[in-house]
Amino acid sequence: MSEDCIFCKIVNHALPHHLIDSNDDFMAFLTIFPNTLGATVVIPKKHYSSYAFDLDDDVLTELMLYTKKVAKKLDGFFEDVGRTAMVFEGFGVDHVHAKLFPMHGTKQVHENWQAVNSNVDKYFEQYEGYISSHDFQRADDGELAKLAEKIRGLE
Ligand SMILES: [Zn+2]
Repeated sequence: MSEDCIFCKIVNHALPHHLIDSNDDFMAFLTIFPNTLGATVVIPKKHYSSYAFDLDDDVLTELMLYTKKVAKKLDGFFEDVGRTAMVFEGFGVDHVHAKLFPMHGTKQVHENWQAVNSNVDKYFEQYEGYISSHDFQRADDGELAKLAEKIRGLE
């Protein structure tokens, strides 16, 4: 428990929230700042700092499995949702959380898979407080090869 953490306050019922699921260790509630209907926050009841990939494997695994359960609950609830997306960011509240975004309009796509392309024209030089999964322009293969080699640690 962290004194100033709003998610810890939600866990302890010190703040109102719109719960959609919970168990002994985790809970899921609707965000009060949704950018799509049913956008949900999933948290462990215990306080951990917000970078998911710093969690111990067992904590992360349990969070992921619980988040999957909530995602399938959202899929089942919304008639037009075939899939729900999950994002770990952690720069809004420093208590680890998964964000779930029901992808409205994907029911048919999910049942009979077809590509859904975006037309967003944006490249991020730095993080701007949100993540987007859209594709940008085709990158240069020479540059990608160099970068991949450096990341592999071969240079
Ligand atoms: Zn907390």
